Amino acid sequence: MTEEVDLFVIGGGSGGVRAARISSGYGARVMVAEEYRVGGTCVIRGCVPKKLLVYASRYADEFEDAAGYGWTVPEPAFDWSKLIANKDREIARLEAAYTANLDRAKVKIVKSRATIVDPHTVRLSATGETVRAKTILIATGAAPHLGAEIAGLEHVISSNEAFHLKDLPRRILIQGGGYIALEFATIFNGLGSEVTVVYRGENILRGFDDDVRTHLRNELEKRGIKILCKRLVEGIEKVEHGLDVELSGHEQIVVDAVMFATGRHPNTKGLGLEAAGVKLGPKGEIMVDANSRTSVPSIYAVGDVTDRVNLTPVAIREGHAFADSVFGNKPVSVSHAGVPTAVFTEPEVGVVGLSEADACRTFRRVDIYKTSFRPMKATLSGRDTRTFMKLVVDGDTDRVLGCHIVGPDAGEMIQLIGIAVRMKATKADFDATMAVHPTAAEELVTMRERAASHVREAAE
Ligand code: NDP
Repeated sequence: MTEEVDLFVIGGGSGGVRAARISSGYGARVMVAEEYRVGGTCVIRGCVPKKLLVYASRYADEFEDAAGYGWTVPEPAFDWSKLIANKDREIARLEAAYTANLDRAKVKIVKSRATIVDPHTVRLSATGETVRAKTILIATGAAPHLGAEIAGLEHVISSNEAFHLKDLPRRILIQGGGYIALEFATIFNGLGSEVTVVYRGENILRGFDDDVRTHLRNELEKRGIKILCKRLVEGIEKVEHGLDVELSGHEQIVVDAVMFATGRHPNTKGLGLEAAGVKLGPKGEIMVDANSRTSVPSIYAVGDVTDRVNLTPVAIREGHAFADSVFGNKPVSVSHAGVPTAVFTEPEVGVVGLSEADACRTFRRVDIYKTSFRPMKATLSGRDTRTFMKLVVDGDTDRVLGCHIVGPDAGEMIQLIGIAVRMKATKADFDATMAVHPTAAEELVTMRERAASHVREAAE
């Protein structure tokens, strides 16, 4: 029998769940298909469990730093299996909460893979049934991409497996220089593993402001993370006491685990998209317009599967905007400009807006304000660490174009500065804001001296 719905959502992650609930609230009959676990990457094997592991890893510093504040802490012991079991319990609770929210919103959940048969029909693999839908939304996300076929690739884990390792690896090599590689490098380093990061480019975090890249690299190295740039993993061989990894340049390193965090590819394979006429881009991403509509008018797509800005809050916004536009009669499109973001390394990175280099490419005059200082907590603890902050300002209008922070709570700070930058606050607005003392954030409203001013001469 063929069921009929107004909206069929493929994928029960952040974007799909939001779109389903809001559409149902507008009176649409909605069905969601999820082949794995409700909650998607963010909740099940991404942002949420990652942050729990980050919290776990930060206790190492807290125990050490306590001494300078008068505490005597007995030799701490860490139990990886207990952490993973506790994390799994929390993820199961969140999955149940997501499912309950969908139930409450009267969205029908089917635990099955779904494929597209034609622009208004999907097939459920679990039962073979077909469902007719006025609108189909694809929110299938992305999955780790391990790169070229090299010898021993079967020994490589991705972030998916890192969340479920039986034991904490004593030595781990992580290939990649982006968000996931550096966050996991920090996690394993904090929990006591020996960590080597192997990155193909000149310096980690390509695309971020150059000062942020240099400062973070220096801080990670001070913590004992080994960062090898301009290298590639060329092969892996299982040996008696671990994995023998061959790097370009004939370097050899033996570790207990090898993880690749070399980017993620959109989950579009085998969904029946090409047959239905949905246009894909070079990475297999679904091409959409500003309203998340694909080349087939009845099919939409949101989140990482569209490879726009691959962040959970963006997928949620896109899902919500889709529901408002298609079922709520309130057309909305999502702005992908000026999205604040954080990298949960130790120290954290928080960024909103343009880097110095990007601003110089677009604006005639760019003023730079920056500072680097020892965080107050490090005075008594004696920890060797520095915080970095930078404001990129349009020298002609005084508007703050970008803010870059490397230091404790950078993620929390950048969320709020994101509002000011979005509201087009000027450097004078920052300066006129009274400082909160003593905080690290007060440095952002007390940077008086210009560190640099770049002026581009008008073309002849
Ligand atoms: P990123 O794009 O951040 O990093 C991928 C890294 O792998 C880059 O350093 C890249 O190098 C390198 N790389 C790519 N292909 C190869 C290859 N074939 N061989 C060797 N190295 C390679 O992706 P991630 O996997 O870290 O994360 C995926 C996305 O998930 C992020 O872009 C982000 O949007 C999101 N995310 C966000 C988080 C957050 O908000 N805190 C946390 C985790 C993920 P190069 O720079 O030279 O291209």
